[in-house]
Amino acid sequence: MALIKFLGTAGARYVVARQLRASGGVYLESEGTRLVLDPGPGTLVYMAKEGLRVEKLHGIVVTHGHLDHAADLNILVDALTEGGLKRRGRVFLPREALYGENAVLLPYLRPYLEEIQILTPQTDYRLGNLSFCTSVRHHHPAETYGVIFELGGKRVGFMVDTLYFPKLLESYRGCQVLVLNVVRYKPHPSPEVQHLCVAHVREILEHLKPERAVLTHFGMTMIRANPKQVAQRLTKETGVPVVAAWDGMVLEL
Ligand SMILES: [Zn+2]
Repeated sequence: MALIKFLGTAGARYVVARQLRASGGVYLESEGTRLVLDPGPGTLVYMAKEGLRVEKLHGIVVTHGHLDHAADLNILVDALTEGGLKRRGRVFLPREALYGENAVLLPYLRPYLEEIQILTPQTDYRLGNLSFCTSVRHHHPAETYGVIFELGGKRVGFMVDTLYFPKLLESYRGCQVLVLNVVRYKPHPSPEVQHLCVAHVREILEHLKPERAVLTHFGMTMIRANPKQVAQRLTKETGVPVVAAWDGMVLEL
């Protein structure tokens, strides 16, 4: 059995800054392997509250170096390795998030880890009993990759921050479960704000037809639009069962 727990469902600055939703990313567990995807601000706190032990994690995946995806990376590495006393854990992140101007992993923590692996486009990875692959590079201001996990016999795609572009679909074809970071209700007028909006999610679902879809990572325009109602509308329009994630939501596979 595998499970996915949404430690937080906030996306974008205002919802994160005001903590209108929690911003702790996603916890995944499959056949004894445990990892956190995109540890945003508060992940350590939410994990402690939920009784999830950081030192029991096997790895952390950071899809890109933005703060709402990586702010708690360092404290998780410190907790996971007991301040460097135990050399363990693997961190997966794009090159830019390790070596670039916006590197998010502190140099003194790096030797504490068993391994640091660079995420590159469309590449297979393995962590204990969990295997996953990356998508094509997303269109987003930071170097960003989506992640597709094999969980409980299903392909579970996490289409994280990106602008919609047709080639994006190729990477997520065949996903039975699709989790989408839907920051925007409507497209942002500025082309620099590279995030999915509801119209693009509709198009994606119509093309890919997963067994089910989960919306998360909500910005303010989505919170105002009521994610639950948006999900119900998308279900009706596409025929794909869509739910809007809430903080603490668990998906069992
Ligand atoms: Zn981002």
